[in-house]
Amino acid sequence: MPAPLKFVATSTELPAAADAVIIGGGIVGVFAAYYLAQRGLKVALVEKGRIGAEQSSRNWGWCRQQNRDARELPMATKSLDLWESFAAETGEDTGFRRCGLFYLSNSDEELAGWARWRDFARTTGVTTHMLDSAAATERGRATGRTWKGGVFSPTDGTADPASAAPAVAAALLKLGGTVHQSCAARGLETEGGRVCAVVTEHGTIRTKIAVLAGGAWASSFCHQLGVRFPQASVRSSILSVSPGATGLPDALHTTAVSATRRRDGGYTLAISGGGRVDLTPQQFRFAPQFLPMFVRRWRSLAPGGLEGIRSGHETLTRWRLDAPTPMERMRILDPAIDKRTIRITHSRALGLLPALKNTKIAAAWAGYVDSTPDGVPGIGEITSVPGFILAAGFSGHGFGIGPGAGHLIADIVTGGEPIVDPRPYHPDRFLKSAWGKVADF
Ligand SMILES: Cc1cc2nc3c(=O)[nH]c(=O)nc-3n(C[C@H](O)[C@H](O)[C@H](O)COP(=O)(O)OP(=O)(O)OC[C@H]3O[C@@H](n4cnc5c(N)ncnc54)[C@H](O)[C@@H]3O)c2cc1C
Repeated sequence: MPAPLKFVATSTELPAAADAVIIGGGIVGVFAAYYLAQRGLKVALVEKGRIGAEQSSRNWGWCRQQNRDARELPMATKSLDLWESFAAETGEDTGFRRCGLFYLSNSDEELAGWARWRDFARTTGVTTHMLDSAAATERGRATGRTWKGGVFSPTDGTADPASAAPAVAAALLKLGGTVHQSCAARGLETEGGRVCAVVTEHGTIRTKIAVLAGGAWASSFCHQLGVRFPQASVRSSILSVSPGATGLPDALHTTAVSATRRRDGGYTLAISGGGRVDLTPQQFRFAPQFLPMFVRRWRSLAPGGLEGIRSGHETLTRWRLDAPTPMERMRILDPAIDKRTIRITHSRALGLLPALKNTKIAAAWAGYVDSTPDGVPGIGEITSVPGFILAAGFSGHGFGIGPGAGHLIADIVTGGEPIVDPRPYHPDRFLKSAWGKVADF
């Protein structure tokens, strides 16, 4: 079942040329397109399905600094400001609110880890409060339990996955950019090694800049160009319940289950880090790089089925530019839910937050979370294909940093002062194969 999502109108005519073409209308693609259009560039955004229909509408909506990798923290902090300024400058509503994120735990080890992160975060000016048992139990009173401790990060927040990407696309249209849905980019054309056009199923757009914000499809697209981008997806299943529960925190994480207030007053319920690994040709190709991560997460991951092969997003086949591609056969990645996970998530949530007993299951859906081996996205110009900018592999936390990532892409394209140090994100770090050799394909 697809997650709830707002509608965006499609521009009628594909332009013959553009200053930049953005491939992929998830949160990263729409923000990149918006910030480029804001700088006066003529921007065309092509999306094979619907704006926001893949990961960007299927997530919990958390926009967090809390527990971020040090390399991503500056982008997370800037993104929170950008969520706010975007609303102020466009009048478009992404549902972003700094409601604070709340974590509860009874594990000394987990609490010690959060305290270490708090100490590090202080050095960067980020405020987060460790809660002792009394404070955690009081703030977590909706659980009716006693807790050893917790964390509250007051400057973090949530945005609405159903309306965020569509709101940014609407702002792009107002700036004169164009949005083309049901329009897959099949590949690039180059001249003297540089990008000179994006070939779509509906025609070719001449351009010197192609930004690939293709989410879980990015690696197979790169493969067509001989660019090595190690990427693997995990199928995560979550559900939402109807309004009816009162007195709950806006956004609560526990190891067992997490709950996030939705715009309509319902809640999104999920188990953090859980998911199924569906075997695909690409999973085999990059297995050596991802093995350490899968081993680390073996408790929360389970083997999947043939969903990944059916979906076609991790294919290793080469496709032609003049014939339908796997992207046109699978307009929207909408994998089957893992029913057992949905059942367990719901029952854990009812156990944790008794007020949810007044609600009904409204919807359940799954999404492929695309990851890189080091859990940090690849953002930057591909050295071997000047003009080709990759922005993918957001590793389960790209929604919150979508604005910062989009801004950084615009900085890279226009040569502006980068909003954050771009070096930790550069995809060149993936050029080495798992065995330490520079890959030569
Ligand atoms: C269950 C779940 C929970 C999550 N929770 C959170 C959270 O709370 N906070 C957080 O920060 N992150 C979260 N994430 C991760 C977050 O949703 C993603 O990191 C983020 O949405 C990635 O955005 P994106 O734009 O890179 O990719 P996507 O949203 O997947 O968009 C990529 C788009 O590119 C299009 N596309 C691909 N190839 C082509 C092509 N060749 N031509 C045209 N279009 C193409 C696709 O159709 C798709 O619409 C979660 C993810 C899931 C699945």
